Parts: sequence; structure tokens; C-alpha cells
Amino acid sequence: MSKMSNNDQVKIFLEEKELPKQWYNIQADMPNLPKPPLNPATKQPVGPEDLSAIFPMDLIMQEVTTERWVDIPEEVQELYRLWRPSPVYRAKRLEKFLDTPAKIYYKYEGVSPSGSHKLNTSIPQAYYNKKAGIKRLSTETGAGQWGTALSQACSFFGLECTVYMVNISFKQKPYRRSFIELFGANVIASPSDHTEAGRNILAKDSDALGSLGIAISEAVEDAVSREDTNYALGSVLNHVILHQTVIGTEAKAQLAKVDQYPDIVIGCCGGGSNFAGLSFPFIKDNLTENKKARVIAVEPSACPTLTKGKFAYDFGDTAKLTPMTMMYTLGHDFVPAGIHAGGLRYHGDSALVSQLYHDGLIEAIAYGQNDTFASAIKFAKAEGIVPAPEASHAVHGAIVEALKCKESGEAKTILFGLSGHGHFDLTAYDAYLGGQLENIEYSDDAAQASLACLPKFK
Ligand SMILES: *Cc1c(COP(=O)(O)O)cnc(C)c1O
Repeated sequence: MSKMSNNDQVKIFLEEKELPKQWYNIQADMPNLPKPPLNPATKQPVGPEDLSAIFPMDLIMQEVTTERWVDIPEEVQELYRLWRPSPVYRAKRLEKFLDTPAKIYYKYEGVSPSGSHKLNTSIPQAYYNKKAGIKRLSTETGAGQWGTALSQACSFFGLECTVYMVNISFKQKPYRRSFIELFGANVIASPSDHTEAGRNILAKDSDALGSLGIAISEAVEDAVSREDTNYALGSVLNHVILHQTVIGTEAKAQLAKVDQYPDIVIGCCGGGSNFAGLSFPFIKDNLTENKKARVIAVEPSACPTLTKGKFAYDFGDTAKLTPMTMMYTLGHDFVPAGIHAGGLRYHGDSALVSQLYHDGLIEAIAYGQNDTFASAIKFAKAEGIVPAPEASHAVHGAIVEALKCKESGEAKTILFGLSGHGHFDLTAYDAYLGGQLENIEYSDDAAQASLACLPKFK
């Protein structure tokens, strides 16, 4: 037996004391900053005062700062240490199964108490709101991961929490709802009669399935109407992405321990937060140190925001309460098909990810859910972890690139983000194994129709 070399190491851990002390802000390094968000009523750039009805000032400042590094508060680091630094694994059994010369590494965020990367931002968001004297947070949740993460963070900091949960998930995912309630949050099926936005939808259809866009409208209305309440968003915004960069900063240090640097970095992309969190510290090296990593965002073909959307100003929600953001969008009225990767069913994308894509600094590709579940099961059999349906898009992207390496004989180093585990998504796996899933394509006609709702400018 040969002696184990660095390169054979399967689990790469960092010590607790190696937890990053700062978040990385790509606004310091990107060649073009996103255009400013606009007030939905006046169409003028939003100022801090516009946002102060729903966000604490520390988070508003994190939205706009161009400082390269932002200190992670001690209280946040202490809670991060419950599960961070998270492991990087070398997927040696998957490599063997695929018979590829590529080295495949993945950063696993499913070890967090909420089961996904979302706790990386819910904790600092709860912290800054508590510090600002806020008593209660409102939010939306689609598949339930964000509601879980925020309810845990609120319970850590003694805040009340109300979660508007997209009606179809409320019905289909009773255990996600139980999980959220266990941490003390109040879960309301959306659309609901608690808000005007919800009542307007229910008046037209009392059984409405709901969407993330509608649930956001309800949560924002709730926060605006109460002095003691702020709103929290689980993706898309600059401060959310800032918090998630702890993922990529750790991963870079982990790969360095085994003398590796990725040729390709891959993440699944809904609103863009886990993708950005993993990839931005590597894009920094592309921008400032002449590195050449390819960075690929993988989205579902049923909701192909980057690959089929338009780069334009649009609202973040259906009732047009949120600022207009310059982003890739499928139109704020777009209700995506009920695919199982609920966390990837959002009509828009982060302004930062959108700008980088527009500037050709990242790539994007869309895959159908039958392909992603097939890859997820190959991965599970090789590595033992059942990926969340969202994360299976990154798994599939990595397998596609590894198989290209097999063709070309190149031994590239691939790093992908495994954003969460799929333990609450076994109904989706059942449906796949029972042959009941369709590969839903987003038609060009549907694209034209839903893009017709984009706000017009004189
Ligand atoms: C919410 C979620 C996503 C999608 O959100 P992003 O902001 O694009 O990261 C992906 N994976 C998991 C496990 C999620 O919970």
C-alpha cells in the first residue's frame, strides 16, 4: 500500500479557529456595479430612508458598501461555530463511478442545523435586527428552507417570527411547517387574508397555489404596517450574498490545504445566494490575481432566469411593493411550473449575479429535473448524501463537466456547492422514481407573455 498523499484526502476540515472573520464584498472588485434599485412609485434611486421601513440600518449599509471586507460580528461567529467551518469533500467514489480523470470536490452546507446554507444569512439578519431594537421579523418561504433558517435564527436571538408559506408547499410539506413551528414561528399559508395583497389574490381564486412573488408581497406589507416588525429576505439582496461568502472563503482555504485550486466552480442558482457565496471569493481571484477559474450557475429549465430572461429593471414581488432592480428576470407575474426544486422557482436573480453574467464574467446553463434527479441519485449512491433537489442542479452540472474531462482526458479540478440535504424532499424522489416527473421546458411564447409585465420607462 502506498502512503496516503494530500491528494487522497476525502474530508477536508478547517479548525474552528480558522472560521473566516470577515465576509467578502465583490462590489469592491467588480468592473461594473449594478445600476441602483429604483423606488417603485417615483422611479428614482432608492435611498437608505426608503428601505428603513423594513430593514435595519446595518443591513442597508451592507447593501451599498464598497468596502472589500466586512467584519463578522463576534456574536454571529459564535453561532456560526455550531456547524462551521463546513466540510469540503473529495468525491472520489463518484470520480471512480464516472471513470473520469477530473478531481471533484464539493462544499457541503447540509451540515447546518437547518439543513442548508440559508442559516449563514438568517443569523446575521436576526442579529442586526435585534441590535436595532426590532421585536419581530416577517418573511416568505417557498419550499420551506428559508422559513426554517429564519425561525431558528429568531429563536436564537429571542425575536418573534411570522412566515408566509407558499400555499402549495404549506400543503405538500407538512414536516417543513412543523420544523418551522417547533422553533416558535407563526406559519401562514399564502395567499392569506392577513394582507391586502393576499386578499386581492384570494378574491380571484380562493384556492390559489401561491408563488414566492405573492408571499413576498404579503411579508413586506406585514412589515411596513407594523413599527416593531422588519422584513427578512433569504436570497437575492447584496447583504444576503455578502453573508454567504463565508462558504467560498472557507472552501478556498480547504482546497489550499491539499494544494488544489479549482478550474471550474459550479453552483445551483435560484436567487443566486449559494452560488454567489461559493463563487465570489474565486471570482475575486479572476478579477484581481489573474486566475482563470470558469464559474457556472446552474438553473432549472422550467425557470431559466439567466439563460432565457431579460436584463431589465423589474419588481421583486407580484404586488410591486419592492424596489425595481436591474436584473435578469422572467417577469414579476411569472408563476413557474411546480417543479420540485422549490428554492429555484423565483422569477428574478440577484443584481450582483446578473451584472456579472451580463459582463461575461460567469456562465449559466439550464437543465431539466429528470436529468438533475438522475445525477442526484448517482451522487447519493456514490457518496451517501441525498442532495436537496435544488442542489442536484449543481451535482448534475459537475457530472456533465466531469464527463467532458473523460472525453478530453483532462484532469481538471471541479468544485461544486452542495447547498443542502434532501431529507425533507423525499416525496420529490418518490415522484422521480415512480416516473412521474416531466422535464418542463420554458417556452419562448411564455417568455414573451410574462415579460410583457416589465415596468415601462418613458
Ligand atoms: C433556497 C435554496 C437554494 C436556492 O437559493 P439561492 O439563493 O439561489 O442559493 C438552493 N439550494 C438550497 C438547498 C436552498 O435551500
